[in-house]
Amino acid sequence: MGSTKYIFVTGGVTSSLGKGIISASLAKLLQAKGLRVTIQKFDPYINVDPGTLNPYEHGECYVTDDGAETDLDLGHYERFLNVKTSQSNNVTTGRIYHNVISKERKGEYLGKTIQVVPHITDEIKSNFYKLGESGNYDVIITEIGGCVGDIESLPFIEAMRQARWELGATNVLSIHLTLIPYLKAAKELKTKPTQHSVKQLLVAGVQPDILVCRSEYPLPTDIRKKIALFCNVQLNCVIEALDAETIYDVPILMSKEKLAERVLSKLKITNNTKPDLNEWKAFLGRHKNPTNEVSIGLVGKYVELPDAYKSISEAFVHAGAENECKVHLGMIHAESITKENCKELFNDLDGILVAPGFGERGIQGKIDAIQYVREHGIPFFGICLGMQCAVVEFARNVMGLKNATSTEIDPKAKHPVIDLMEDQKKITNMGGTMRLGAYDCELAKGSKLQSVYGKGKISERHRHRYELNNEYLKDMEKQGMIAAGVNPESGLVEIIELADHPWFIGTQYHPELKSTVLNPHPLFVKFVKAALEQKKAETQVLN
Ligand code: GLN
Repeated sequence: MGSTKYIFVTGGVTSSLGKGIISASLAKLLQAKGLRVTIQKFDPYINVDPGTLNPYEHGECYVTDDGAETDLDLGHYERFLNVKTSQSNNVTTGRIYHNVISKERKGEYLGKTIQVVPHITDEIKSNFYKLGESGNYDVIITEIGGCVGDIESLPFIEAMRQARWELGATNVLSIHLTLIPYLKAAKELKTKPTQHSVKQLLVAGVQPDILVCRSEYPLPTDIRKKIALFCNVQLNCVIEALDAETIYDVPILMSKEKLAERVLSKLKITNNTKPDLNEWKAFLGRHKNPTNEVSIGLVGKYVELPDAYKSISEAFVHAGAENECKVHLGMIHAESITKENCKELFNDLDGILVAPGFGERGIQGKIDAIQYVREHGIPFFGICLGMQCAVVEFARNVMGLKNATSTEIDPKAKHPVIDLMEDQKKITNMGGTMRLGAYDCELAKGSKLQSVYGKGKISERHRHRYELNNEYLKDMEKQGMIAAGVNPESGLVEIIELADHPWFIGTQYHPELKSTVLNPHPLFVKFVKAALEQKKAETQVLN
């Protein structure tokens, strides 16, 4: 624990108020003042991690360098802070119980009756403090998922209460994010839901220090006063959080409301440094004042839920800003694509990205899309399953292997150009057993990829069970599909590219997971550039 200070962020009234963005924005402001900050997320659901959850349930599963399958909010933390997260940054109720039950089975509790209080709450607290023990952080922000008042968040709120009691009010701070709805008919902002939400916290023994109030309209002083009085917080600790044009505006909005200053004064941290947000503001300037625009199609099967592709769409925001270019990202349902409608569907698009995914649904649409863009010189970017589909398409339509496929689709495939990795064949447990996390990759000399990255050795994050079957590699390369990057230890092909195409790249890894505001990913930056060039070429043809 040392001298680390803890900030807890809870939410009330409704879910989806943006606790992750508020936490990331506060962390950004503290970081901009020179403090060492990280954010962790505690989720009250019973899955041990979100790795086994369908994207429709929970959006994208974000993967860290150390191979943790985590909540998508960790992606926001990394994108805002430009600092890596790890397994310890995301803990669920499932993991807490898993740990406690394992200890019980080992007899570590010496015959005691195991109860929510103190055993579950002790386990939660020891996880609250884990990252702080390294001495690497001045401040740790802990976001508690869900809403106060939910049965399942109770042990977390209780652990938070105990943490404050144990460490004292100058070391533990409670921020509550709430909603101030506007009633159109009454033309009024309403504070009652917030009062009720704070009461829920008070029943659990937690008095929030700061209220961050989401609102569609500015909060007038009388409303702020009312909230302060009824919720027992200081007037200047009622923070207004207006709807923002982009999530990347939120640190600036919070800076205007002096959120970081309030936090520091409550935690008795003396720091008068003016936050250095110059690079951040420069990014916002580029993002909001594009000099050009491109349209890119994202082909996937979870497109009804944009959160399923969160890191990809954010990577395009970063790459767009880098190119001073607005990227219009259109979602295309893989199941809606046929050989016949590609021309019409892709007519106004300057590039196509085929997304990651699992299972057979939508595969044929992805393959048809890839054939079209390959044959028409349209910039293509395939990620994970998208890369695997590109290999299948190439095998079928260029190498003439009619039945080529992935064994994920047909376990008895005649030409399994994508096959289960050897060490995956014996695995029966689904959770945490894919090839996960960062692996090294050596780039082929003279490949496009080497010039994209500007170096020969990279490390990128993975989440898959299948891989390119190296038995087909020689023939593939003979016909023009090159293995542009290989893992040096295993020989697994991590990247494919086509030599005779303006931009046709597939990665077995997920580059989107490493793109941040201050470090846009070079593959996305160059893909947007390729799309811009495609657009220019198209316009010239039309003129
Ligand atoms: N389903 C594929 C595999 O497991 C691809 C996974 C992905 O796109 N993340 O290998």
